Amino acid sequence: MPLREVAFSLLKDAENSFKENGKFSDEVFQGLHDVFGEVFVKAAEILESGVVMRYETPNGVRVIFKVTNKKETYTLFDNINFCYCSMFAQEVLVNRKLLTCKHVLAVRLAEISDQVEVIKLTDLQYIDFVRDVVNYIKE
Ligand SMILES: [Zn+2]
Repeated sequence: MPLREVAFSLLKDAENSFKENGKFSDEVFQGLHDVFGEVFVKAAEILESGVVMRYETPNGVRVIFKVTNKKETYTLFDNINFCYCSMFAQEVLVNRKLLTCKHVLAVRLAEISDQVEVIKLTDLQYIDFVRDVVNYIKE
């Protein structure tokens, strides 16, 4: 099985494990570590010391995440494996050594383990929000 699929099924296991037991089983924990290595360790650190916020419109269709840890904030889009951090650019896109970065994984794990702060936006606020993000990226 390609690593990407292993990772995907592992996250599914993690989700089920959390739903059943309210925590990740040792097996899941080990598996996540085997597949994601240091990225998993760092993502777990974000969950402990940082904040994952989910901004969504009233119908929940439009979603943006913000991951903040140690004064750094990254904005991520829902269900898209992409991040603006340098790690993602270098190790995921250029070197293809990693499947994803700690921010993307932290969002996924935060969602699975219900550690996301949800903030409701109106559709107009959402548009402003995205505009800010895009402006930030262009700078
Ligand atoms: Zn990142």
